[in-house]
Amino acid sequence: MSDAPLMLFNSLTRQLEPFVPVHEGEARVYTCGPTVYNYPHIGNMRAYVFADVLGRTLSFKGYKLTHVINITDVGHLTDDADAGEDKMEKMAAQHAQSIWDIAEHYKQAYWADVRALNIREPAQWTVATDYVPAMIAFARQIAPAHCYELDSGLYFDVSTVADYGRLARAQTEDGEGRIEAVEGKRNAADFAIWRKTPPGETRQMEWDSPWGRGAPGWHLECSVMSGAVLGFPFDIHTGGIDHREIHHPNEIAQNQAKCCTNGLDVAENSGAKVWMHNNFLVERSGKMSKSSGEFLRLQLLIDKGYHPLAYRMMCLQAHYRSELEFSWEGLQAAQTRLKRIVMGVEKLMKAPAIKRVDQGPTPDIQSKLAEFDAAISDDLNTPLALTVLESLITLQSLDIDQKKTSIRKMDEFLGLNLFDPNFTRADLRIRPKSAEIADQEIEAALARRKEARAAKDFAMSDAIRDELIAQGVEVMDGDPLGWEWKLGEA
Ligand code: AMP
Ligand code: ZN
Repeated sequence: MSDAPLMLFNSLTRQLEPFVPVHEGEARVYTCGPTVYNYPHIGNMRAYVFADVLGRTLSFKGYKLTHVINITDVGHLTDDADAGEDKMEKMAAQHAQSIWDIAEHYKQAYWADVRALNIREPAQWTVATDYVPAMIAFARQIAPAHCYELDSGLYFDVSTVADYGRLARAQTEDGEGRIEAVEGKRNAADFAIWRKTPPGETRQMEWDSPWGRGAPGWHLECSVMSGAVLGFPFDIHTGGIDHREIHHPNEIAQNQAKCCTNGLDVAENSGAKVWMHNNFLVERSGKMSKSSGEFLRLQLLIDKGYHPLAYRMMCLQAHYRSELEFSWEGLQAAQTRLKRIVMGVEKLMKAPAIKRVDQGPTPDIQSKLAEFDAAISDDLNTPLALTVLESLITLQSLDIDQKKTSIRKMDEFLGLNLFDPNFTRADLRIRPKSAEIADQEIEAALARRKEARAAKDFAMSDAIRDELIAQGVEVMDGDPLGWEWKLGEA
């Protein structure tokens, strides 16, 4: 099953490359995690579904995976460059709450989404505030050759490393335009690795450092945590595509400084060999923005009656490097598709097992496994992998046991929970939180309607249907998928 060579798209070279681990048989992956100042939106969660699929693929291909995701609870400004306020401090001030309480609340909310989307726990969650002494040590080490001090903090001089911005292919007008000028900076792209607390102010989160009391820069955090836990160079660094422009080029520059390496012609010089980025989930009406009041978070989808795994399915239906446009219709289609798969597996589980001497998968099943492996090995082609799974489910093979085993294997990679006995077609019925009518009531009314129709009492049948419609129940006669009914929002 793990025969095809794993090819991954490296943003650093903008090419598909065969995956060659730094340490034989191992894969070490770092994912830029959330800043816990607010709930994650579903776009953010796409980044973690992608990282999860990558991790599952590496495990599936037989590598011993060490995955680290960080939790940023300090230092991330409202702008990726050096302008704006600290996101955490701003939220705490708005809500007159302690930053630590805010961080705890939103960290738990993020973890709830992680579980709901069946994202596997990484080997380690690194929390930025636990690493501040390590950040100071890192900064001290690189400061003499690469940094300079201004009134506002310690700045990294990007001209001291070779190939700065290579990852971003950057110095585009766009990239340049996003970098705000700080008086005294030597180069526009220089960035703060330590921000001093302005005189007369106190921050809720601040630490003593050789450059005065203050807080670490966000870019420094990821360099320190990834290097501390995984060791430089490690295999793969992931994040959303926005990070390709500023955050990751800055991390790379720091890593080069720390490792005393030079140009990026040798990929290892960047701290991680492969840099991978998921494209964005977009939503045209602006509901994705956390500042828009009610924004698109996973709980909103659940409240509207969708299953969280329908959103995972929606992500898998698109290649991670393609933009994905969110729509409620698209989500419903993903849920329907998932239900069709779940029903196929339920049917398979009920089919009588045929006793046969185990000789491994039959050639028809074997070729499906090979197709699946080829799909995921081709830079995680999940849309194609899904179609292979579906074709295996409908494959007329007599070898039920091998079919089940093979589908189970595929689901280890897709993470759709297909063999969880507590996850059934009934969970995939759309049921908004606001709907009041109970399933049993609907079923009873539908049974009465069936009797009325059998007795050719169409007036009664229509009356029951109208009554159900008034309660938000849409009856779906003749639905081949067996939805039978669906609930709208009351
Ligand atoms: P943040 O909490 O803002 O640091 O973002 C967490 C992760 O979500 C980062 O990897 C971002 O690059 C990623 N991200 C942000 N917005 C989107 C989006 N609309 N679609 C996909 N990924 C996103
Ligand atoms: Zn990061």
